[in-house]
Amino acid sequence: FVAREDNTFVIRGPTPAAQISKRTLGEEILHSLLQNKPDGDAMIDAVTGEALSRRFLLRAACDTATALRRCGCTKGTVISICCDNSLQFFTPVVASLFLGCIVAPLNYNYTLEELEHALDISKPKIIFCSREVLPKFTELKRKRDHIDKVDCNETLAGAETMETFIERALMGQRVIPENFQPLTDDPAKLGAFILCSSGTTGMPKGVLLSHLNVLVRVAHRSEPRYKYDIESVLGLMPFFHGYGLIVSLSCIISSDQIIVLKRFDEDDFLRALQDYKISFLPLAPPLAVFLEKSPKVLKYDLSHLKYIVCGAAPLSKDTELGLKKRLKSLETIQQAYGLTEATLGVTLLDSKTERPGSSGKVVTYMSCKVRDPETGKSLGPNQIGELCFKGPMVMMGYYNDEKATRESFTSDGWLKTGDLGYYDDEGYFYIVDRLKELVKYKGFQVAPAELEAILLTHPKVRDVGVVGLPDELAGELPLAFVVKRDGAEVSEQELQEFVARVVSPQKRLRGGVVFVSEIPKNPSGKILRRVLRERLKTYKGKQ
Ligand code: AMP
Repeated sequence: FVAREDNTFVIRGPTPAAQISKRTLGEEILHSLLQNKPDGDAMIDAVTGEALSRRFLLRAACDTATALRRCGCTKGTVISICCDNSLQFFTPVVASLFLGCIVAPLNYNYTLEELEHALDISKPKIIFCSREVLPKFTELKRKRDHIDKVDCNETLAGAETMETFIERALMGQRVIPENFQPLTDDPAKLGAFILCSSGTTGMPKGVLLSHLNVLVRVAHRSEPRYKYDIESVLGLMPFFHGYGLIVSLSCIISSDQIIVLKRFDEDDFLRALQDYKISFLPLAPPLAVFLEKSPKVLKYDLSHLKYIVCGAAPLSKDTELGLKKRLKSLETIQQAYGLTEATLGVTLLDSKTERPGSSGKVVTYMSCKVRDPETGKSLGPNQIGELCFKGPMVMMGYYNDEKATRESFTSDGWLKTGDLGYYDDEGYFYIVDRLKELVKYKGFQVAPAELEAILLTHPKVRDVGVVGLPDELAGELPLAFVVKRDGAEVSEQELQEFVARVVSPQKRLRGGVVFVSEIPKNPSGKILRRVLRERLKTYKGKQ
């Protein structure tokens, strides 16, 4: 059955007041660093108090870009960055954007196996990393000839430091930022980032975002309807994920300070909010639940907190209402909906609006249709279907994967999100379920296909289907339904440990293992995840 496309009901974003820049992201950043608050701090480490000034970031990025150019990096060269949220993170990012190089940030928690998969996709020439992950990259460099260099932010065997790399390439000649020439190009055709996402099915892939994609987000920052009264933003969302990455880059362009937190620690988090008088807090739902429930919150002065915007996974209406009641200074608590493939937030609430349970309206420059996945019909208000988007925030495609790219669009070019939802009579969107295979643990993507492939290599496993077990704090916990091989004895713990050895922490089978006699499949062999998820309703979860 071939779905016929229908565009009877298309919801368009409002008329924009803010124009999208025609320059590249690199040109935008250079212009901002030269012109706006050049003496201010770009980033401050919340725990140590160490600061990175905008002037220093500019100089370091120009030096790094010049050094990269001298070692052959040019438009389209892929450069990876793998480190935790640190003050150094954005120097190579900005340098790469100056040159039109594509930045592929990597999760620093990735295991060797996960890094191999990610490197197979993006094939970076140069990798900038932190001391903790350096041993993995020195091992990988031996196996892979696309990697020319691994640079570390500290002096360690097996890598050059960024400083030495720059010294050697520049031979003592510092670059004058006022004279630095970033690449000029068409922002719609120039790749900026390769971000990991598994999309609607299969293994993690590389989402290629263009300069234009990100510039639309930047334009949203100056759109009056989305404007918040901000001076500093907490940089706790991981910089390797689109959420942390793009919020932070927009902060650099709009000269808002980023207060960097490397990892979540209850007291560090609350102290940072208090001491740095944070007014705007981008969050994922588990942290919103923490703010709503933890008794510790009452010991800190959070009276500067005015806006919370939650994304990456659904936030319950109860949590929104509970937070509003608890944090008296809050003007708005909102959730936004988006996905890496569409450069994150594609439905937002206006900054002054609250609508508990809703993820807002379609943003400026974008259009959405709610599509019946079987008939291809576009649906009117209050009817549930798959959300599909068109517009300049939609990715260029999956990097070097034409087939997956083709499959993620309708025949007339709408991005299929794999999320089920509806809009009400006023155009407010509600996300109700997921059509795609994805499991989200604390806002992190877990691709069932990846865990299934690992479990199928276990000699005692005949078949497997992975789904998400609903969980109040984490959102979902990865859980495997497993069919044992005839006569084989294997325990839940054995399989959990088997998986834990090769995956990063967010992908562990925290939801457990349920042994079954068969995995339900359709005639073409596709796992019927909906049936498995139904079965979970009668299953008493364990952690
Ligand atoms: P990622 O690409 O990692 O940002 O993940 C995107 C996916 O997270 C979406 O396709 C949704 O399944 C889910 N998601 C993001 N925001 C929301 C939200 N507000 N409500 C429900 N699900 C969400």
